[in-house]
Amino acid sequence: YAKEQGKNNIQWFHSSIRTVHDERLLLEKRLRIATERKHFELNYQPQIDLLQQEVIGVEALIRWKDKELGVISPALFIPLAEETGLIVSIGDWVLEEAMIQAKKWNDEGKPLRISVNISPIQFQRPDFVSKVKYNLKKTGLPPELLDLEITENDLMYNQEECLRTLERLKGLGIRISIDDFGTGYSSLSYLRRFPIDTLKIDQSFIKELLNNANDQAIVTSIIQLAHNMNLRVIAEGVETIDMVSFLCNRKCDEMQGFLYSKALPPEAVAPFIESTNPKKILSY
Ligand code: C2E
Ligand code: MG
Ligand code: MG
Ligand code: MG
Repeated sequence: YAKEQGKNNIQWFHSSIRTVHDERLLLEKRLRIATERKHFELNYQPQIDLLQQEVIGVEALIRWKDKELGVISPALFIPLAEETGLIVSIGDWVLEEAMIQAKKWNDEGKPLRISVNISPIQFQRPDFVSKVKYNLKKTGLPPELLDLEITENDLMYNQEECLRTLERLKGLGIRISIDDFGTGYSSLSYLRRFPIDTLKIDQSFIKELLNNANDQAIVTSIIQLAHNMNLRVIAEGVETIDMVSFLCNRKCDEMQGFLYSKALPPEAVAPFIESTNPKKILSY
């Protein structure tokens, strides 16, 4: 009986591997088509400034709705895009599209800072800085409105090369943020070597902030660390008023999260800014 069951298990195992494999191939095929045809959209999540009590910037987040597969989360397809190299082409599109949109808002009298997620594969390409420079020229976006988000892990390999890339980017007048801060395999020494503007506290530390003394200690320390080093600090994943009041008390510079808004299609951003009064939420 045991033997029979074992055999069945093995069969089941094989067929489930095949399914996973087929699913991946299908996803890859659809992603390739979407990349060629630029079947993506960008949505923009507002970031609220504590001092100015208003929306100061937005983070561009890619969205993909495939005709066959439906909505696929970037958490799923960005890693695949990285493995297949498609991220280079996708990333080029994201960067240009986000900058065109930010320039539009700026021309309409809304100088919103735009944050763009950059994959390590893009960041490490020798032509990355010149692409950014080219897009600044082409779109006419003031460089101080562009913010590139990279993660700690991206900075750990080839530190000298990274330093040079970051210095060249800073030379263009743009901003650099560390995304998902606190979750990477990093040493803090890079913070004093690299020209960084902002730390984004990872949402995993915010999630249970009110019930977890360790998370409170970590978040408080990150805010202090940032301020002691003259960096700005943003909290990601802010979902409740209690989180806001904790973060405000510790002078976290900016908040981003579902409490304010999810990522919005471009045409919904201006109405959001006009219709909401972050003062009400922040001065609670
Ligand atoms: P991320 O850069 O850390 O982006 C923040 C993610 O948290 C977004 O998920 C956002 O929708 C979500 N989020 C924001 N506020 C809240 C909240 O209050 N609660 C919760 N539970 N979640 C919140 P999204 O859009 O699914 O993106 C996931 C990840 O995919 C991003 O994490 C980023 O690493 C990557 N990604 C998204 N767009 C791009 C892109 O254009 N290029 C690259 N290279 N990566 C991207
Ligand atoms: Mg991000
Ligand atoms: Mg990111
Ligand atoms: Mg993040």
